[in-house]
Amino acid sequence: MDLTAMDKGKISLGRRDWIKLGGAAAIASSLPLIGCAPGKVSRSRVRKVIFMVADGMSAGVPSMAEKFSRLTRNSGTAWQEMSAHRETTHGFFETSSLSSGVTDSAAASSAWSSGSKIFNRMINMLPDGRPLEPIGRLVRQKGWKLGLVTTCTVTHATPAGFVAATDNRDDEQGIAGQYLDSVDVVMGGGRAFFSGDLRDDGRDLVGEFAGRGYGVLFHKDDLKSAGGKNKLLGLFDYSHLPFTLDQSRSAALAGRVPSLAQMASVALDALAASSDNFLLQIEGGRVDHAAHRNDAAGLLWEQIAFDDAVRVAWDFARKHPDTLLVVTTDHGNGNPGLCGMGYEYITSNDCFARLAGFTGTVDQFYLGLRQDILAGRKAPDAKEFAGRLQVMTGFAMPEKTVAELHAAFPFALKEKHGQRRCFLEMFGRYLGDWTGIQWSGLEHTSDWALSMAWGAGSEEFKGLLANTDVCGRIAVFAGVQHQNTKMTVEEALQYRKLQPAVM
Ligand SMILES: [Zn+2]
Repeated sequence: MDLTAMDKGKISLGRRDWIKLGGAAAIASSLPLIGCAPGKVSRSRVRKVIFMVADGMSAGVPSMAEKFSRLTRNSGTAWQEMSAHRETTHGFFETSSLSSGVTDSAAASSAWSSGSKIFNRMINMLPDGRPLEPIGRLVRQKGWKLGLVTTCTVTHATPAGFVAATDNRDDEQGIAGQYLDSVDVVMGGGRAFFSGDLRDDGRDLVGEFAGRGYGVLFHKDDLKSAGGKNKLLGLFDYSHLPFTLDQSRSAALAGRVPSLAQMASVALDALAASSDNFLLQIEGGRVDHAAHRNDAAGLLWEQIAFDDAVRVAWDFARKHPDTLLVVTTDHGNGNPGLCGMGYEYITSNDCFARLAGFTGTVDQFYLGLRQDILAGRKAPDAKEFAGRLQVMTGFAMPEKTVAELHAAFPFALKEKHGQRRCFLEMFGRYLGDWTGIQWSGLEHTSDWALSMAWGAGSEEFKGLLANTDVCGRIAVFAGVQHQNTKMTVEEALQYRKLQPAVM
């Protein structure tokens, strides 16, 4: 294909080009797929599966998080410790979806869960609208319990992928309704989608969950009284849980919102107390959100919060030999990396160390300023902008740099060649000149996803797998026979309106 012509908007992708470029099935078919078909029986009996997802975690993140943890906490990460352990198996997932070589979280979680590649933005639904059976429902039919724990709304794409089916991942109210009696332990944010006063249909889902015997938790302190309840609904914010970095600087937030590790620990206790068999998904969902904002400090604190939960899960797995622990991501995002800085890269470490001094997220800085404007207050002048910037970063940038950023603010979102161009991207680049972290963009990437596994059945997760292979492996562990229908990229094409090249 003539990329120059495509650049100029003269041509759109033809059918064959599409298959070559974004053809998920074409890419995946070169791999030894098992799909959702039952595979060989594992040597050890797997009764518990803990599936951990650092959402949108590019391959460079764990090694940066290790450096950052040593810098800020004087201790290393569970990721590195587990990676280095001789009993840990290592692998990768190929992650393309049916609509693109670059997946979103909805198609990625659905692939793990249903064994089928689907279009981005849909959850466990084929392009023609046929729903697929998610793994969470299949294992529950075999008497397993199901838990979902996340720092996002509990109805966000990644947790929803294990239990819900919908043609629109943004229908979080509809997804919340699908959770009733289908998930045993659910914890994270998203109270707005369960609350009668905020739902469009006025349905009091919180009351309905309570009526079915769920312990309802809204505050970190409520976790203390969770003991003895087999079924839990924990909704610790109306939307996503606040970023870890912002929580750490706010006594009010830190007092109210539990960490991912605390939620994971309570979820494991509740599931293990009620059943020998369970599937628990634990998601560090806001790693992805920080990457979408090119926010290195925000991202590293999210990864560390995820890492604390990895330690909780790994401790559990070591005490319970019938546990399989998988630690992975659904896709890369922004591909951040610590770059060589200065002669012989001698300033890279000093640049990286600046990240430890950040006092808030890019999200808080940017949205805080925008909210002022939306609320009718005047846009910040150069002096106020510089002051707020210095509070956020903990260091002073040169006046000229600050002036350029101030002039660009708020620089609304634009697209060029289909890539987002906005203040956040420019801000990320400018911050990177001082922190040493640079990014590929503001969006997901097609990298193979890192994964590692521990315990019973971990040998099934060695090497390069398709993300759809997860379903078949868990199905074998739980004795599930059901196989979902698959659609090839050629079959799916008729349901997809090909977009002309966006310019
Ligand atoms: Zn994302």
